[in-house]
Amino acid sequence: MVVANQKGGVGKTTTTVNMAASLALHGARVLVIDLDPQGNASTALGIDHHAEVPSIYDVLVESKPLSEVVQPVPDVEGLFCAPATIDLAGAEIELVSLVARESRLQRAIQAYEQPLDYILIDCPPSLGLLTVNAMVAGNEVLIPIQCEYYALEGLGQLLRNVDLVRGHLNPALHVSTILLTMYDGRTRLASQVADEVRNHFGNEVLRTSIPRSVRISEAPSYGQTVLTYDPGSSGALSYLEAAREMALRGAVVGAQNEQSMAEGI
Ligand code: ATP
Ligand code: MG
Repeated sequence: MVVANQKGGVGKTTTTVNMAASLALHGARVLVIDLDPQGNASTALGIDHHAEVPSIYDVLVESKPLSEVVQPVPDVEGLFCAPATIDLAGAEIELVSLVARESRLQRAIQAYEQPLDYILIDCPPSLGLLTVNAMVAGNEVLIPIQCEYYALEGLGQLLRNVDLVRGHLNPALHVSTILLTMYDGRTRLASQVADEVRNHFGNEVLRTSIPRSVRISEAPSYGQTVLTYDPGSSGALSYLEAAREMALRGAVVGAQNEQSMAEGI
């Protein structure tokens, strides 16, 4: 699952780590790949990512096996992280001259042999080669949308990029999930934006939206997800519910695919 939106600060990282932790707490084995040079997902999961730590940069640029950089996340059984260090800032340019530059992450994931139920990839706020690598590697795109004015601006470009990658590099790719984040029910603007997103996208939008919550924004400074930092908070409960909804849909789509495959035989 590729968590992408080239707009900055819309809740990509927060959504990646909290959805991943929710799925792991439900018993799934989940890997978070931090594909943003800022390393925010690594920080939020309490994973060391100073410059010398083996990281996703080594995987993409030096062809190091993914298994050599993946670390278990403290406190959450079944949750793992491939961290990003500041080196990754150079990868966008270094990748340009490498062979198969768009599919290096896909190859690394294919060679990774540990059993996993989900991989969530936290993308940087841009549509460059790092995000393209994520889109080539993934099947589904999860777009977090912040319930603010301008929320839909730029989305057209993101959707066109998904179409381009689907057309040329990864026929399986599709936008499966849209999550409304930082929803403030007290403002009319938030509900207007939410209505607009639901009218525009319909089925892809999860029924659960994520409220604006101080607990969610505090958790990363303790190297934790909100699920372990304050499990009873409204923020934690909404991410648990959103993850449940996403997992159930995935199960239904999976079953439909199996059925149509069975019918095809
Ligand atoms: P970037 O584009 O820089 O990677 P992003 O899209 O990953 O940003 P986040 O880092 O997840 O966005 O969130 C941006 C800021 O908003 C962070 O400070 C985060 O703690 C805060 N934030 C995210 N979701 C919520 C929420 N539901 N309630 C309150 N604060 C939130
Ligand atoms: Mg981020």
